[in-house]
Amino acid sequence: MSNLYFQIASLFIVLLIFIVYFSKRRVNNFETKIYSFLLIGNLMVLILDFFIISHGYFFEYSDEILILNKIYSSVLLMWVFLFSIYIMYISIRNKIKKINLFKWITFTLFFSNIIVILIIFISPLYVFNQDNVMYSYGPSINTLIIATIFYIIVITASIIVNIKNVLNQKYMPVVTLVILMIIAIIIREINPGLLLVTSIITYINLVMFFTIENPDVKMINELNIARDQAEKANLAKTDFLSSMSHEIRTPLNAIVGFSQSIGEEDVPDNIKQDIKYIKMASNNLLELVNGILDISKIEADKLEIINNEYNIHTLLDEVVTLARGRLGDKPLDFRVIIDKSIPHVLYGDHSRLKQIIINLLTNAIKYTDDGFVEFNVNMVKQNNVCRLIVTIEDSGIGIPSDKIDKLFTKFERMGVEKYNSVEGTGLGLAITKKLVDLMNGKIVVQSDYGIGSKFTVAIDQKLVDNPVHVSLEETMSLDLRDLQFNNKKVLVVDDNKINLKVATRLLTNYAVNIDEVESGQRCLDKIMAGEKYDLILLDDMMPKMSGVETLKKLKEINGFKTPVVALTANAIAGMKEKYLNDGFDDYIPKPIERKELNKIVVKYLQ
Ligand code: ADP
Repeated sequence: MSNLYFQIASLFIVLLIFIVYFSKRRVNNFETKIYSFLLIGNLMVLILDFFIISHGYFFEYSDEILILNKIYSSVLLMWVFLFSIYIMYISIRNKIKKINLFKWITFTLFFSNIIVILIIFISPLYVFNQDNVMYSYGPSINTLIIATIFYIIVITASIIVNIKNVLNQKYMPVVTLVILMIIAIIIREINPGLLLVTSIITYINLVMFFTIENPDVKMINELNIARDQAEKANLAKTDFLSSMSHEIRTPLNAIVGFSQSIGEEDVPDNIKQDIKYIKMASNNLLELVNGILDISKIEADKLEIINNEYNIHTLLDEVVTLARGRLGDKPLDFRVIIDKSIPHVLYGDHSRLKQIIINLLTNAIKYTDDGFVEFNVNMVKQNNVCRLIVTIEDSGIGIPSDKIDKLFTKFERMGVEKYNSVEGTGLGLAITKKLVDLMNGKIVVQSDYGIGSKFTVAIDQKLVDNPVHVSLEETMSLDLRDLQFNNKKVLVVDDNKINLKVATRLLTNYAVNIDEVESGQRCLDKIMAGEKYDLILLDDMMPKMSGVETLKKLKEINGFKTPVVALTANAIAGMKEKYLNDGFDDYIPKPIERKELNKIVVKYLQ
């Protein structure tokens, strides 16, 4: 009777593992499936064992007990088979080459197992039942023991052959499991009356549950793998987007450049108007490309804030001009109230600040059909910091109060169903919020649906004691006729023929002498041959020899002093600083804007 205690205790343990295991969310893979069957098999073996032993104690020998005993042996053999498959699978896990061999072994073992079960059923089996000691023996049981020993040899060999893999994948506990199996066989042989086999199986399942088959640990592992994959995919996406943005900029450069120079020619008004539309559409496309690139950089945590001295009033003027351009035909009262006492030169990231204000102003104009848009800039000075307080208020469609929380989430557009005629991507505010955060600022929204919205941004910028900033902005508005440099010579280097044409076409207006070459090497050849230039515009992204490499070689030439300006479609924030660090004298982003070119021409040719 005392032997039943082991069975009862084991039954409780298996039931406990059963409930915990099957009630948890699990990873669904080959191992976990086998483990589920191992638990079910364990439960069946225990119930059968319980029946057999209690039957033996309370009743006399009967034929039913023999049949039950044979069923018990068969289920036990199936359990050993599944356990062996499990261990073998773990040993070769991640080794694709061995998968076929594994499948072949599994099928062979499965069919052999069926034959062994048949032998167990047809061979004789005897039951020893005397003085409270009861166990079964005979050819049927011997067949089971021999088959189990065979399985132990197979799995031990599998572990030894693949030991590196087992260690790498942290599957060492399986060695303990095999040792437990061997112990079960030895105990059975030394003292069959102990009836410990089912308890040892339970113990094996328990060890598995707490080591390699714990659903939580497995889930965490899977999540870690998924996270690593997602991070890799995200990086690939960022790379893809930045190369796409470069690719899109190149044809855009041609569109913007040619329309600009056609617009400057003596063409009829209707063509001038059409060109204005082409430029507007190109600018929208450019903004879209920049937005997508910014979002991907934000996600990859690569967005940097680059601080410099800059003229805040020039920045605000530019922003206001741009906003006026965006008003188009809308009958809006655009009010601009800028505190004149804001110091001219501040220290901070002017291009990001500009981006924030432009995003908010563009939205206010986009989502307001009539009434007003008010742009208000104030400041508070404290120690060496100037806190800029920018308010943009409109009398537009407003934002429903339940949607305000989602406002700064990317790709979220509020009420688009109603205003789907308004173009947008839902990226602007997500980028704006991120930029404000990166600049340690604050952004607040107040809005009444149907009445209007008010966005307030507060950003600290440093005050500059002795500003060295030289403003060239005045040159922007200069008439092209004032910028003629007949005796100057400019060399343009770009591998893309259309880009060369754009640059030369835009340069024609300055009446300079233009030379063009299609590679860094040809540029070096010209300089080595003694050609003298007043300015070199050098594309960076060229096959064979990049602009940066070409510049390095140019600087090695004795007596070379010509200013070299980087001309690049790789025009994202922070790039200007990179090119200046690389030794370029200046930088023009593509698509080339007339005002940018004016600045460069005045700076280096006047
Ligand atoms: P987009 O304007 O490209 O859709 P944004 O991220 O700039 O994307 O804005 C997200 C959404 O917030 C917009 O689609 C719009 O529904 C709402 N929104 C933003 N600014 C305003 C505003 N000034 N007035 C009303 N709704 C606005």
